[in-house]
Amino acid sequence: KLDLFSDHHLVRQSLAAVIEIAEAFKLEKGRMPVLMEVCGSHTMAFARSGIKQRLMDHVKLIAGPGCPVCVTDQKSIDAMIQLADEPDTILCTFGDMMRVPGSASTLMKAKTEGKDIRVVYSPLESVKIAQQHPDKEVIFLGIGFETTIPILALAIREAEKMELHNFTIWMTTKLVEPVLRELLDAGEVKVDGFLLPGHVSVVLGKTSYDFLMKEYQVPGVISGFEPVQLLTGMYKLIDLLHNQKVDILNDYTHVVKEHGNAVARELLHTYFEFGDEAWRGMNVIPKSGLVLKDQYARFDAKKKFNVAVKEPRKVKCRCGEIIRGLINPEECVLFNKGCTPVHPIGPCMVSSEGTCAAHYQYMREE
Ligand code: SF4
Repeated sequence: KLDLFSDHHLVRQSLAAVIEIAEAFKLEKGRMPVLMEVCGSHTMAFARSGIKQRLMDHVKLIAGPGCPVCVTDQKSIDAMIQLADEPDTILCTFGDMMRVPGSASTLMKAKTEGKDIRVVYSPLESVKIAQQHPDKEVIFLGIGFETTIPILALAIREAEKMELHNFTIWMTTKLVEPVLRELLDAGEVKVDGFLLPGHVSVVLGKTSYDFLMKEYQVPGVISGFEPVQLLTGMYKLIDLLHNQKVDILNDYTHVVKEHGNAVARELLHTYFEFGDEAWRGMNVIPKSGLVLKDQYARFDAKKKFNVAVKEPRKVKCRCGEIIRGLINPEECVLFNKGCTPVHPIGPCMVSSEGTCAAHYQYMREE
């Protein structure tokens, strides 16, 4: 079935349909439709498939705040690097975090200097590491959106079952709804409609985006990741705009359900509660993250370890503006000059879902 979504003939037909509807919108409004893709995987898929480049004269496609590595604020990155200095500590994290520059170093550099930092594919692996090393403190760096958070909850459940006292999570997880509200309330960027994330929506469900249409009168379409799925999602979104309809559509129905995954959400609310969270480029957004509930405070690395982080050094990286949809990577003077995937200056160039990395790999002019 997925092959069908990448079929060249279908892709060409879908492209033509999107161009046609976008041109109709343009004729009526005198400008291109402005769509924001919320998810980092969508950003990469649009660039990799060439769809973004092909539609450049017809649709303004803006990358949003959906890359978990990119939205992690500088202070948290510095705190994570500092944590590696704690004695008898094993730090576990996802691969992308290793190369994100802090104010003075990276986790990768700390590892080469002899700190015990391990890349894991799941927080559950770090629970196992804690079980194998009872004499060490094992800290998992918890980044991610609603898709990752249930796995963090499972890790806590495992650690609880195993009665581990040497496992903690440093929580910097983020939630989608508060950041979309923040973007719309700030009004810095005019977005006609949202292409809503496929993966996160599996947990949240379609109805969790109703606030967009009810409170902000902005439509959205939940889309998959294959070329035809991306184009169909775009077509449906522009069609809504063209017909002046405000609705939330689910175009990823074989995966995303109306009310999401109740089991995952139940897990999430068993262990966590809402907390204020700092976002790169946006400072602190109230209740935009999750913290461990008091009864699980022993698993909270922020409470267990007293890490005092200085105010981060100012850098020229413009990831904050990219995350807010204000500029394209090419507008950063460092893009493809001081900043490349080999020598990244900011997380948007490091992350496999980062907008700068996507533009560098697939849209760069030599
Ligand atoms: Fe930051 Fe590099 Fe992107 Fe510029 S090109 S915004 S320095 S990551």
